[in-house]
Amino acid sequence: MNPMTPRPSPIPPAIAALPRDPRGYPIPAITPRDAEGSPTFAITGTARTLVCAVERRCSICGTPMAPGPVYRVIAAAETEALAAAQAAGRTATNKAPSPEPPGHRECMLFAAFTCPFLARPNARRGQDAHVFGESLTRGTARGSATDDHSGTQIGGAVAGFADFEFRYTPGEQVAFLFTGLTELRPHHLGADQIPELTAVLAALGEPPPAPTGEPCPPYLLDDESAAEARAREILEAAMARQRGGGAGG
Ligand SMILES: [Zn+2]
Repeated sequence: MNPMTPRPSPIPPAIAALPRDPRGYPIPAITPRDAEGSPTFAITGTARTLVCAVERRCSICGTPMAPGPVYRVIAAAETEALAAAQAAGRTATNKAPSPEPPGHRECMLFAAFTCPFLARPNARRGQDAHVFGESLTRGTARGSATDDHSGTQIGGAVAGFADFEFRYTPGEQVAFLFTGLTELRPHHLGADQIPELTAVLAALGEPPPAPTGEPCPPYLLDDESAAEARAREILEAAMARQRGGGAGG
């Protein structure tokens, strides 16, 4: 028995402003829509991911990421590798390219406890959809690793990186490379990140202000053809630059 007490989760204003699915859950900017405009949460859309990477937008809320660290939710194995590097005083760098794009700190704190794929230690891509709003408090910790020092089980972390690069080969996923670990916030379950997000949002004031700055652009909302058109523009511009630039890469 593990009855869940419904209680309002903290939500960043820029995520609260996103379109919602029929159940009322916000739809991340990188989530493609099908022909009817319905979100297909299980797939990370290449067009949308590419647009976010090129325009330095948060993969969750679609608004720009300021210069400075970017954030991801990472799995247990990567958390341990980065923690070990950090403890040994080595520069913690993620050497393996990842298909998971970066976002704002508060948006990744939110994703950590609302996206089953990211939040549950035993979640696997393809079996668990990218979807917000599912409560994860009763998820089992099966598959999580144990930290040697404290005995605390690690399910993953929200991690900050000083910089990122990305590579895109048409027909493949966008691959991200993150360098310079700036912050590592391990969790057992993603819900462990709720108090930190609550604190971040509380610091904004009560009630939280409406999203400031540029909103999520229309081509990252419900219209998939707009997202694809924007990605095509970006690719065509890149190819034109390559032709103009001679050698290319
Ligand atoms: Zn964001």
